[in-house]
Amino acid sequence: MTNVLYNALFSPLRHSREAFLHLPEGTAMSGAAFWALCVRAANAFVDAGIRPGDRIAVQVQKSPEALALYGGAVAAGAVFLPLNTAYTATEMSYFLKDSGASLLVADMSSGPEIQTICDELGITAFTLDENGQGTMTDLIDAQPDKLNVVERNGDDLAAILYTSGTTGRSKGAMLTHDNLLSNAAVLAKLWQFTSEDCLLHALPIFHTHGLFVATNVSLLARSSMIFLPKFDLNLIFQLLPKATVLMGVPTFYTRMIEDPRLSHELTSGMRLFISGSAPLLKETHIEFFERSGHRILERYGMTETNMNTSNPYLGERRPGTVGYPLPEIEIKISDPDSGVELERGSVGMIEVRGPNVFKGYWQMPQKTAEELRPDGFFITGDLGRFDEDGYLHIVGRQKDLIISGGYNIYPKEIELVLDECPDVLESAVIGVPQADMGEAVLGIIVALPGRTPDIEAIMNSLKGKLARFKQPREILLVNELPRNAMGKVQKALLRERFARQYQ
Ligand code: ATP
Ligand code: MG
Repeated sequence: MTNVLYNALFSPLRHSREAFLHLPEGTAMSGAAFWALCVRAANAFVDAGIRPGDRIAVQVQKSPEALALYGGAVAAGAVFLPLNTAYTATEMSYFLKDSGASLLVADMSSGPEIQTICDELGITAFTLDENGQGTMTDLIDAQPDKLNVVERNGDDLAAILYTSGTTGRSKGAMLTHDNLLSNAAVLAKLWQFTSEDCLLHALPIFHTHGLFVATNVSLLARSSMIFLPKFDLNLIFQLLPKATVLMGVPTFYTRMIEDPRLSHELTSGMRLFISGSAPLLKETHIEFFERSGHRILERYGMTETNMNTSNPYLGERRPGTVGYPLPEIEIKISDPDSGVELERGSVGMIEVRGPNVFKGYWQMPQKTAEELRPDGFFITGDLGRFDEDGYLHIVGRQKDLIISGGYNIYPKEIELVLDECPDVLESAVIGVPQADMGEAVLGIIVALPGRTPDIEAIMNSLKGKLARFKQPREILLVNELPRNAMGKVQKALLRERFARQYQ
């Protein structure tokens, strides 16, 4: 029976006595035990009325059982729909309605609201807590581990993954079996994953990074994972000597650098450190190299496409870039207005085409038509440029671009300068409406704990560092930047908040 993703990722674990998941308390789950959990989960879903193509929504803490829900959904021919554990009942209500999910597995400990929403929408709800216990586990335990795998072709949906909601409301990206498998295959080969590898997994499993990049690559290469419930610096330092690869977001690396325990010796058994999901500063790359001897490999991707580019495994990993397009994936830089491809070296819209590119946004045909060209190129919304050696540099999101007095201003360039100023923890630069210039540049900063940045001194210091048209008209101090559940700064909210600053 063909089930593209199940056959490639989960079925091969069936007879594996090797550890697949190492847990922080020192125990391990073998490949065969994880396979049996996935198969029982599939049977449990079928038992609960799931038919091929139905959406299974999941909002649970990370555990082996939680990961097995992914395998179970795939084997049952369903569409897996993981949701951020930070979403509130109101947010969950939107996702459940929008996706038309038939079943929800959630940690119901936050209160009765979710159950009420499920009752209203006619969704069957099961519980699963952070220890992997609940009514879902009870149903799973009652199942045989003999499976009738449901047939799924490469073009069938395996998952709907909602985007992080950084630029607006989260959109459900429809990902097929082929989308996920092709990307895992390319990455496993490029990053040279083998069955000898052990990935230190400290990312959430409701996002493309921890769920697809980390898990699919490990499954495909028959690597094992040390499966941590979350990023915990003590556990990371304790377990690094047992791992060979770490995948992280940039904050993993800045937090490690701040800690005196990071050393060449501690990381001597490591083969690879990977970073993505947000820009990794050049300084972070360089400092991490000095402290550990490892050059972090930065790659670039998004919910709609999985990964698009990666710095090389063997060649030069160039700090501040996201590397080359992956094999089989085409990237072009186009004029954001006309869509015409630009010359090499110009900054423009990053467009992507390849087997990794999603099928469209769930029930948003108009949005899909706006962002997916008929020739297959996906308009990512990110601006970037290729350098003379073919490395891609991400410049920022098009929606965040500031146009002031006819000049294009890229907020990231100004933010990098502000972040370096004394007593500044972080910054966000936005454009706000202003009669003369169209938009004015506004700098928003957050102070380091217990410090008070001297704003006038900062304004003065910018004069020597940035062209006049890029210098913020004002710098405002705020307590914190608004972030979404993935920790990404929501500039749209800042633009709304300061919309009337000059009007
Ligand atoms: P939404 O689409 O809902 O506004 P989002 O784009 O933040 O949210 P994700 O799909 O989680 O949702 O994030 C993908 C985005 O993250 C990319 O489009 C890009 O802007 C950013 N990103 C990912 N990796 C990198 C990287 N290495 N460097 C810079 N930016 C990155
Ligand atoms: Mg996006």
